[in-house]
Amino acid sequence: MSECIFCSIASGEMSSEILYQDARYIVIKDVNPVSPFHVLIIPKEHIESMNELTDFGVISEMMSIAVRIVRENGYAEEGYRLVLNTGQEGGQSVLHLHLHLLKILSHFLAFINLGSHTDYFAFYLHQHAQNSSSYTIYNTSNPSIFPLP
Ligand code: AMP
Ligand code: ZN
Repeated sequence: MSECIFCSIASGEMSSEILYQDARYIVIKDVNPVSPFHVLIIPKEHIESMNELTDFGVISEMMSIAVRIVRENGYAEEGYRLVLNTGQEGGQSVLHLHLHLLKILSHFLAFINLGSHTDYFAFYLHQHAQNSSSYTIYNTSNPSIFPLP
Protein backbone atom coordinates (compact mmCIF):
# COMPACT_ATOMS: atom_id res chain seq x y z
CA MET A 1 0.00 0.00 0.00
CA SER A 2 1.20 3.52 -0.82
CA GLU A 3 2.66 5.50 2.07
CA CYS A 4 0.41 8.40 1.11
CA ILE A 5 -3.18 8.14 2.39
CA PHE A 6 -4.72 10.01 -0.53
CA CYS A 7 -2.71 8.02 -3.12
CA SER A 8 -4.04 4.83 -1.45
CA ILE A 9 -7.59 6.20 -1.63
CA ALA A 10 -7.16 7.33 -5.25
CA SER A 11 -5.89 3.87 -6.29
CA GLY A 12 -8.69 2.11 -4.41
CA GLU A 13 -6.28 0.36 -2.02
CA MET A 14 -7.87 2.16 0.90
CA SER A 15 -11.64 2.55 1.18
CA SER A 16 -13.36 5.89 1.60
CA GLU A 17 -16.76 7.42 0.99
CA ILE A 18 -16.49 8.56 -2.61
CA LEU A 19 -18.85 11.28 -3.84
CA TYR A 20 -17.40 11.68 -7.31
CA GLN A 21 -14.43 10.65 -9.39
CA ASP A 22 -13.10 10.94 -12.90
CA ALA A 23 -9.75 10.04 -14.47
CA ARG A 24 -7.86 12.81 -12.63
CA TYR A 25 -9.79 13.73 -9.47
CA ILE A 26 -11.57 12.06 -6.59
CA VAL A 27 -13.97 13.64 -4.10
CA ILE A 28 -14.39 11.96 -0.72
CA LYS A 29 -16.11 12.71 2.56
CA ASP A 30 -13.66 13.92 5.19
CA VAL A 31 -13.27 11.14 7.77
CA ASN A 32 -13.16 13.73 10.56
CA PRO A 33 -15.72 16.33 9.47
CA VAL A 34 -15.73 19.71 11.14
CA SER A 35 -19.20 20.49 9.83
CA PRO A 36 -22.12 18.37 8.58
CA PHE A 37 -20.96 18.85 4.99
CA HIS A 38 -17.20 18.47 4.63
CA VAL A 39 -15.63 16.88 1.56
CA LEU A 40 -12.16 16.84 0.01
CA ILE A 41 -11.38 17.36 -3.67
CA ILE A 42 -8.15 15.50 -4.42
CA PRO A 43 -6.10 15.22 -7.62
CA LYS A 44 -5.19 11.54 -8.20
CA GLU A 45 -1.65 12.50 -9.13
CA HIS A 46 0.60 12.84 -6.08
CA ILE A 47 1.38 16.54 -5.71
CA GLU A 48 2.56 17.28 -2.19
CA SER A 49 1.28 20.82 -1.83
CA MET A 50 0.87 24.20 -3.53
CA ASN A 51 4.66 24.54 -3.27
CA GLU A 52 5.23 21.62 -5.67
CA LEU A 53 2.47 22.67 -8.08
CA THR A 54 3.54 23.71 -11.58
CA ASP A 55 0.27 23.32 -13.50
CA PHE A 56 -2.08 25.81 -11.80
CA GLY A 57 -4.88 24.58 -14.02
CA VAL A 58 -5.24 21.84 -11.35
CA ILE A 59 -6.52 24.48 -8.90
CA SER A 60 -9.07 25.73 -11.38
CA GLU A 61 -10.27 22.17 -12.04
CA MET A 62 -10.55 21.42 -8.30
CA MET A 63 -12.51 24.66 -7.80
CA SER A 64 -14.84 23.89 -10.68
CA ILE A 65 -15.53 20.37 -9.31
CA ALA A 66 -16.25 21.93 -5.89
CA VAL A 67 -18.68 24.47 -7.28
CA ARG A 68 -20.43 21.78 -9.33
CA ILE A 69 -20.93 19.69 -6.18
CA VAL A 70 -22.24 22.76 -4.34
CA ARG A 71 -24.73 23.49 -7.12
CA GLU A 72 -25.85 19.85 -7.36
CA ASN A 73 -26.51 19.81 -3.60
CA GLY A 74 -28.37 23.12 -3.70
CA TYR A 75 -25.90 24.87 -1.36
CA ALA A 76 -24.82 27.71 -3.64
CA GLU A 77 -27.16 30.37 -2.23
CA GLU A 78 -26.60 29.45 1.43
CA GLY A 79 -22.84 29.73 1.00
CA TYR A 80 -19.86 27.50 1.52
CA ARG A 81 -16.15 27.60 2.24
CA LEU A 82 -13.18 26.40 0.19
CA VAL A 83 -9.96 25.87 2.15
CA LEU A 84 -6.54 24.83 0.93
CA ASN A 85 -3.93 24.38 3.66
CA THR A 86 -0.24 24.42 2.77
CA GLY A 87 2.68 23.22 4.88
CA GLN A 88 3.09 22.91 8.61
CA GLU A 89 2.18 26.47 9.55
CA GLY A 90 -0.66 26.43 7.04
CA GLY A 91 -2.25 23.53 8.94
CA GLN A 92 -1.65 20.86 6.26
CA SER A 93 -1.66 17.41 7.85
CA VAL A 94 -1.90 15.21 4.73
CA LEU A 95 0.97 15.95 2.34
CA HIS A 96 -1.02 15.39 -0.85
CA LEU A 97 -2.74 18.45 -2.33
CA HIS A 98 -6.45 18.67 -1.50
CA LEU A 99 -9.18 21.27 -1.36
CA HIS A 100 -11.64 21.29 1.55
CA LEU A 101 -15.25 22.11 0.69
CA LEU A 102 -17.45 22.74 3.68
CA LYS A 103 -20.45 24.57 4.89
CA ILE A 104 -19.72 26.61 7.97
CA LEU A 105 -23.21 26.95 9.42
CA SER A 106 -23.48 28.79 12.68
CA HIS A 107 -21.17 27.47 15.33
CA PHE A 108 -20.77 28.28 18.96
CA LEU A 109 -17.64 29.06 20.88
CA ALA A 110 -17.12 28.05 24.49
CA PHE A 111 -14.23 29.44 26.46
CA ILE A 112 -12.81 27.47 29.36
CA ASN A 113 -10.75 29.18 31.99
CA LEU A 114 -7.92 26.83 32.93
CA GLY A 115 -6.35 29.12 35.48
CA SER A 116 -3.12 29.94 33.68
CA HIS A 117 -4.81 30.46 30.32
CA THR A 118 -8.15 30.40 28.60
CA ASP A 119 -8.73 27.60 26.11
CA TYR A 120 -11.61 27.39 23.73
CA PHE A 121 -13.54 24.90 21.70
CA ALA A 122 -16.01 25.50 18.94
CA PHE A 123 -18.96 23.30 18.24
CA TYR A 124 -21.95 23.15 15.98
CA LEU A 125 -25.28 21.69 17.00
CA HIS A 126 -26.97 19.94 14.12
CA GLN A 127 -30.66 19.42 14.73
CA HIS A 128 -31.72 16.11 13.17
CA ALA A 129 -35.13 17.38 12.08
CA GLN A 130 -37.20 20.48 12.58
CA ASN A 131 -38.73 20.48 16.09
CA SER A 132 -36.66 17.41 16.96
CA SER A 133 -34.89 17.28 20.31
CA SER A 134 -32.20 15.07 18.81
CA TYR A 135 -28.88 16.78 17.96
CA THR A 136 -25.40 15.81 16.81
CA ILE A 137 -22.55 17.88 18.20
CA TYR A 138 -19.82 18.52 15.62
CA ASN A 139 -16.48 19.59 16.96
CA THR A 140 -15.40 22.54 14.83
CA SER A 141 -12.34 23.47 16.85
CA ASN A 142 -9.77 22.75 14.13
CA PRO A 143 -8.01 26.13 14.11
CA SER A 144 -6.68 25.56 10.59
CA ILE A 145 -10.25 25.74 9.34
CA PHE A 146 -11.87 27.91 11.99
CA PRO A 147 -9.36 30.62 12.88
CA LEU A 148 -9.57 31.97 16.41
CA PRO A 149 -11.71 35.10 16.63
P1 AMP B 1 -5.31 19.10 6.04
O1 AMP B 1 -5.20 19.31 7.52
O2 AMP B 1 -5.70 20.32 5.26
O3 AMP B 1 -4.09 18.38 5.48
O4 AMP B 1 -6.54 18.13 5.85
C1 AMP B 1 -6.45 16.73 5.82
C2 AMP B 1 -7.83 16.20 5.99
O5 AMP B 1 -7.85 14.85 5.59
C3 AMP B 1 -8.34 16.25 7.43
O6 AMP B 1 -9.52 17.04 7.50
C4 AMP B 1 -8.60 14.79 7.77
O7 AMP B 1 -9.74 14.63 8.56
C5 AMP B 1 -8.76 14.17 6.39
N1 AMP B 1 -8.43 12.76 6.32
C6 AMP B 1 -7.33 12.14 6.81
N2 AMP B 1 -7.36 10.82 6.51
C7 AMP B 1 -8.50 10.62 5.81
C8 AMP B 1 -9.12 9.46 5.23
N3 AMP B 1 -8.55 8.25 5.30
N4 AMP B 1 -10.31 9.62 4.60
C9 AMP B 1 -10.89 10.84 4.53
N5 AMP B 1 -10.37 11.96 5.05
C10 AMP B 1 -9.19 11.85 5.68
ZN1 ZN C 1 -0.25 11.05 -2.53
